[in-house]
Amino acid sequence: MLVKLENTTKKLCVIGDPVLHTRSPLLQNAMISEFGLDYVYLCQHVPKGETTRWLECAKFGGYVGFNATMPHKEALAPLMDGLDEVARLCGAVNTVCIRDGRAMGYNTDGGGFLRALGGLGVEPAGKRVMLLGSGGAAKAVAAALVGAGAAVTVCNRTLSKAEQVAAMAPGSIASADFKLETLRAVAADSGLLVNCTSLGMEGTASQFDDLTFLEALPREAAVCDAIYAPAETLLLKKARELGHPAMNGMGMLLHQAILALEHFTGQVLDVERAKAAALAALKNG
Ligand code: NAP
Repeated sequence: MLVKLENTTKKLCVIGDPVLHTRSPLLQNAMISEFGLDYVYLCQHVPKGETTRWLECAKFGGYVGFNATMPHKEALAPLMDGLDEVARLCGAVNTVCIRDGRAMGYNTDGGGFLRALGGLGVEPAGKRVMLLGSGGAAKAVAAALVGAGAAVTVCNRTLSKAEQVAAMAPGSIASADFKLETLRAVAADSGLLVNCTSLGMEGTASQFDDLTFLEALPREAAVCDAIYAPAETLLLKKARELGHPAMNGMGMLLHQAILALEHFTGQVLDVERAKAAALAALKNG
């Protein structure tokens, strides 16, 4: 991978605290190199509480955009001059474009999930979706699904957090608890299941206590996990055994990065080429 630096090269970065673990520079520079774009993508540590100061620095320092990870996504939303629909609904921004001193905020996690879902041949419009979890990923996915015409039931261990997600779009999002009998009842009434909890994620000890609620889900319903490491969680394994179409979170990860680069550059990218470049970088990096 070679990113050529010229005096004209436009600066992008990812901010976070911590930030050194992020794969965004690897993915973005691989795509920048693949398409020969005059951009470079850096990694910038911005301490919690310094979001406003960073935005001023980014504008002054000539950045044309940046991505944000924890803990800045929610702090950025009120600082933006404009928000896309998903960012507005979920109150969190992961992509900022700076033009003429104005900052436009996007949330590409939701759109990235929808693109990945499209790759599985699933159309969310008119579907009832069972969404597990109420953290940042769940909020973005819920907002995108509602925008795409789905009705969502959010099931979460902490019910009050599910209720907060439902409050984003009352009438389109309902809330429920995480008890097995509730999960069974919601599954029976759903045409798509999305896991946005961290249950099953590499590096966490936590797993679903009981996956038998999957048996209530109609067989044609797809099962999606936002988790991409491991590539197959126990949830996805069981879903595949039961005959459900299934996908992990790798597509969401790649598509949110591609969408962000499209926002930064104002160009529509060849998605297959972008995905191949990003995947190769992940494999080799
Ligand atoms: P988060 O804000 O920390 O939310 C974690 C969620 O998991 C919460 O709803 C939490 O419930 C639930 N949870 C945690 N432990 C649980 C347990 N033992 N039993 C039941 N529920 C439990 O995390 P996030 O940022 O939303 O990320 C969630 C997952 O999505 C992670 O695995 C992350 O890797 C993945 N993700 C993937 C992508 C992608 O591009 N593919 C992007 C973002 C995130 P409570 O509210 O009760 O605590």
